[in-house]
Formats: sequence, structure tokens, C-alpha cells
Amino acid sequence: MSLEHLRGATLSFSARPDDENHHGVHYFDDAVVTIDDGLIRSVLRLDQFEREGGRLEAVDDLRPGLILPGLVDLHVHSSQLDIIASYGRQLMDWLADYAFPAERAFADEAHAIDVAEQFLARLFEFGTTTAMTFTTVHAHAADAFFRAAARVDARMLGGKVLMDRNAPGDLCDADDGQAATLALIERWHGSGRLDYAVTPRFAITSSPAQLAAAGDVMARHPDVYLQTHISEHPEEIAATLALYPEASDYLDVYARHGLLTDKAIFAHGIHLSDAELERMRAAGAAVAFCPSSNLFLGSGLLDLERLEERGVLMGLGSDVGGGTHLSLLATAADGYKVAQMAGKSWHPLAALDAITRGGADALGLADRIGTLAPGSEADLVVLDAAPGTLLAQRIEAATTVAERVFAYIFLGAEHAVARTYVAGVLRHRRQPAQDRPTEVVR
Ligand SMILES: [Zn+2]
Repeated sequence: MSLEHLRGATLSFSARPDDENHHGVHYFDDAVVTIDDGLIRSVLRLDQFEREGGRLEAVDDLRPGLILPGLVDLHVHSSQLDIIASYGRQLMDWLADYAFPAERAFADEAHAIDVAEQFLARLFEFGTTTAMTFTTVHAHAADAFFRAAARVDARMLGGKVLMDRNAPGDLCDADDGQAATLALIERWHGSGRLDYAVTPRFAITSSPAQLAAAGDVMARHPDVYLQTHISEHPEEIAATLALYPEASDYLDVYARHGLLTDKAIFAHGIHLSDAELERMRAAGAAVAFCPSSNLFLGSGLLDLERLEERGVLMGLGSDVGGGTHLSLLATAADGYKVAQMAGKSWHPLAALDAITRGGADALGLADRIGTLAPGSEADLVVLDAAPGTLLAQRIEAATTVAERVFAYIFLGAEHAVARTYVAGVLRHRRQPAQDRPTEVVR
């Protein structure tokens, strides 16, 4: 049995903190995280570690790094790395102009395999260790994603996209997609740390028959996840209700097809009514808040506080490629700005909770990931400003942990993630920059 000991500051949450309430915050400025066979065995203050016989020679000293649980992305498209930051227009046009052509390239299985590897490496680069992922309509793209995740024993969720109308013909399922979905569930769901998510893109691109087939899969496999989009853009909402005139609202389209369960993650949900939010809360479904994408595509400003008041589970999604960064720190920075537009401030620790424990809780996985609780899986990220960066300068001036976290959120996307551990194994380590970033040219 080999133990690994990481020394640094540690921060994790057991409840959502806010301005007044910090009772769920677990912070040590000098502590040792002990990893045992892929799990967190303990987090002890340094003095306690030594008192219990821990030896400093055996410790990997990561100070002044801040050790956190790995970050959880509730909504991302692995097929869209190459179209991040593609200029122009709003949701429906953006899908046609950028997303669909990019997804078409995955008909080539070799491309799908390449991208799956790149995608995971990029997630780890930005400290994300769990992601609820849309692949493409091609079953081999979902296979490639799961195979790549299995190789590094990452806790990943995802699925093959279901589409059978209002999309290019070669991106549509030839049938209702049920057989392919069931075969993927058979191969991957519950295998190691992997879980399957039934993945109708959204109601517009699935016929009622396809949504019913997806609901039938959910009924047969109640422990399988469901991921889709909802109530993102006003044009999309109008088109959805026109296609499903019998539904009382957008959520009802999914609910009446058996897709509203406590395993469901609905991306966006910006324009949901009070009645829809209440129905979502009662079902135990969750919203993936995707502020970067919502700003980029001009979709709208989600009222985070309203979701919290209504008791709806919520985490953050990068929604790459509609989102402009894979980094959940950058995504949280956009979330902060969205809250500001409603005259509200999102506390930095609450934001950090949302991209760790909050996301895990939305997935029903907070007993396994998202915290540093003993027995949790050792998915960890170490934040530490790269030397010479503006972030390092700002961190130097920070006097509290909340201030430090806020600086990581706003300045840390490219310069904060020093290391990422997946199931206790180091999977990303920042390389020292070749170029000095702050050379002043005179
Ligand atoms: Zn999306």
C-alpha cells in the first residue's frame, strides 16, 4: 500500500457558503492531504499530521498552493473544442453555422478518438476532473470518450447525442436512437467511474417518437442520467412550443416523455417560469448554469438567486463551444458578472462551492467527489499562480482566502492550475513558461 501526502492550504465545502454564513467552509492554511489507493484518506492540519506520526520527508510540498477538490463541469460538448470563439449570431444560427459542421467531422472514427484524448487532457489542464459531456450523434464518438476516460480512471459522464429532425440529415439518427443508446449503456454505464447520460440535444431536434424512446430508456434504467438543453433562448422556446403544442411549457415537453427525473441535468434554464422551477425542484432535477455561453450567444441572464430561493439544484457548465472557455474559474467569473447585472453579488466562496461540491451534489455524487471529505475519490486540483503573472501579483496582495479565491476566479483561467490529480494520480502538471510573460520592452 502506498500513501501519498500533499502539503498546502486546503479548501472544501460541506454546504453552500454566502456572505453571512461560512459554516460549511473547511479551510486550513497549512495541511496535509493523504491519498490512499485513489481515495482521500485524511486532511490534517500540519501539527496534527506530525502529532499522528506523519513524517515531513514523505510529504510533497505544494505550498503556497491551494488544494481543492477537482472541478465539476455540468455541461460541455467534447466535439466543439475547435469552434470556441466562433464569431457571429445567436443560438439557432450558431448551431447551423458552427456546431453542426464541427460535429459532422466525427463521422470519422479516428477523429473522434483523437478529440476524446485531447478533450480530457484539456479538462485536466483547467482543473476539471468530472464533466457531463455531449459527444455527437455517432455512437463511436461516445465510445471514444468513455474509452479515453476509462484509460485514466476519470469520473466522467456523457452520451451519444440523439437527433432525428431539424438538423442536417447526416447528423440525424437513422431510427429513434434507442438501440444505440441501450448498447452504450450496456458497455459503459457503471463501468469503473463512468456513467451514461441519455442525450437528446433538445426538443427541437427530436421527434415526439424519439423523446418517447429516450423516456422508455430512462424508465428501464432509472439510475442512468439524462442531459439536454432547456429554455436557453427566446427563439428556441417559441420554436419548441410550436413543435409541441400539447405541452403546457418547455419543461412539460420533457416531463411528458418521461425525461424529468432526479438524474436529469438541464443546461441553461434561463427563462424557466416559477411553475417550471417548482416542478424541477420537486423532481430533484438540476440546472447547469452556463454564463459564459449565455453571454456569448446573447441568450439571457439567469437569475441565480431565484434558483437558490426555489431550491433547484444548480452547478456550472462551461458549455464549450458556446462557452468561451473550458475553465470553470473563467466560467464562474462570467457568473459573477451575470449576477451583478441583476444587482446581486455572488460570493467567491459560493462560486467555488458551485464548481466543486455544488456540481457534484447536482449529480448526486457529493459523497464521492466535489469535497475533500475522507473516503472521497482523490480528484484534486492545486491552484498556485504561475510566477511573473498578473495573477501572482494580485495573489500577493490578497489578505483573506476569499480574496485569493476571487483572484483565481478572475485571473486564474490560464495561470492558476498548477496540478490536477485524477483518482490520486497526477494527470496535469503546469510546465514552466518558456517566455517570460512580463518583460517590459523599452
Ligand atoms: Zn450546450
